[in-house]
Amino acid sequence: FASLLDQDPQIAELLVAELDRQRSGLQLIASENQTSPAVLAALGSTLSNKYAEGYPDARYYGGCAEVDKVEKLAVERAKQLFGADHANVQAHSGASANQAVYGAFASPGDTILAMSLDHGGHLTHGFKVSFSGKWFNAVHYGVHPDTEDIDYDQVEALAKEHRPKVILAGGSAIPRLIDFERFRAIADEVGAIFWVDAAHFIGLVAGKVIPSPVPHADVVSFTTHKVLRGPRGGAIVCKAEHAKKIDRAVFPMMQGGPLMHAVAGKAVNFAECATPAYQAYAQQVLDNSRALAGGLDSRGIRPITGGTDTHLSLHDLRGVGVTGVDAEARCDAAGIVLNKNAIPFDPEKPNVASGIRVGSPSVTTQGMGPEQMETVAELIHRAVTRTDGDPDHAVAREIRAEVGELLTSYPAYPEPQAG
Ligand code: PLP
Repeated sequence: FASLLDQDPQIAELLVAELDRQRSGLQLIASENQTSPAVLAALGSTLSNKYAEGYPDARYYGGCAEVDKVEKLAVERAKQLFGADHANVQAHSGASANQAVYGAFASPGDTILAMSLDHGGHLTHGFKVSFSGKWFNAVHYGVHPDTEDIDYDQVEALAKEHRPKVILAGGSAIPRLIDFERFRAIADEVGAIFWVDAAHFIGLVAGKVIPSPVPHADVVSFTTHKVLRGPRGGAIVCKAEHAKKIDRAVFPMMQGGPLMHAVAGKAVNFAECATPAYQAYAQQVLDNSRALAGGLDSRGIRPITGGTDTHLSLHDLRGVGVTGVDAEARCDAAGIVLNKNAIPFDPEKPNVASGIRVGSPSVTTQGMGPEQMETVAELIHRAVTRTDGDPDHAVAREIRAEVGELLTSYPAYPEPQAG
C-alpha cells in the first residue's frame, strides 16, 4: 500500500475512504460481505499479470506451470466443498457464469423458464434489457399471492405449456428454501435441463446449514462474493456429463483469459469454507437473519412470506407508510446501508418500490449475534419512521452515534491488537 500511496495518492486515499465507509456503517446489503485478508492478498498478487487462456495442462500460453497448480487446487476444493462431479472456476462474475450456462445448453431463440425479476429473480434470468431477455424467449413464473413463495404449480403448468430447453431456479430476493426435488421432477417431465443459480445462498450450502442443489440440478452457477465470502467472481459446478460443454462455454465461447488472481482467491476461499469455523459462521448468518426479520416484523415492517430461511429477508414497508426509496435514503443518512427492493405484486415502480431487502452476512462476519440484530431492527425502524433523509436531522445524528457505538464492539476489518 505504501507504494500506491507514494505513486497515486488520489486513488490510495479513495481506497482508504472506502475502507472507512465499510467500517463506519451498518452493512446490511444481502449480496455483500467482507472477504478475508488472505483472499485480499491473493487478489492483490502478481497472478494478475498472467495470461492463461485454456485450462490446466492445456493452455494457449507458456509459463503457466504455477497458475495451473493454483487452478487445479481451486477446482479440486470446489468439487470437494460441494460434492460436485465437475467445477469451473473461471467465470469473471455471476453474470458471466450465467452467460456460459446459457451458452452450454441453449441457442438464441430457445425458450427458458425462470423466476421473474419483480418476484425475486435476476436480470440475467431473461429480463428484457439483459442479453438473456434479448437472446432467448424467456417465460417467467412468480410467487403465489397467498404464500408469497414460489408458485410450483405455476412452474409446472408453464413448463408443460412452453416446453423450455432450460428451467432455472434461484434469484436475488428469495427468502425461503427452494424445493429442488419439485423442480427436478418438473424438468424431467418436460425433458428440460435443470439449472440452479445459487449466487445468493451458495455460502449457506457450503456451510452445510441448508440443503444443496448440487445432487438435484444438472448445473449450479454461483457468485463467490456473497455469503460465501470469497473474491468477487463466479463459478459453476455440474454433473460429469455436462463438464465439457460447460468448460467450452466459459472458454472460448464467452471469455478470454481467466483472472488468475481471482482464481487464487477462490481457492483460498473454498478452503476457508471447508472449516468448522465457516460452518459456525453460516449458522450464525441464518440465526441473525431470522432475528433481524423477526425484529422488524414486531415493529410493523412485515417480512414477505412471514419470515426467512436464508441470509436475507424482504420487507413490506406499507405498514409504516414509507416507500423503499425513502427508507433506503433515510437509513443511509443514519449510517445504515441497505437497499430498496420491489416486493411481489408491488404497486410502486421498481425505482420507488414498497420494500427493503436486508441481509446478515456482513454484520455476522463482524461478530454480531441475534441480540445485536434486535438493536439493528430498532435502529432501522427508527431511521425509517422518524427521519427524513437529511444527515443533519437530529434523529439521524442520534442513530449514527448509536451505530458507531455498536460498531466499536463489532468492527469490520479490526486493526491487529498490539502484542
Ligand atoms: N445471479 C444472482 C441470483 C445474483 O443475485 C447476482 C448478483 O447479484 C448475479 C447472478 C450476478 O452476479 P454478478 O454481479 O457477479 O455478475
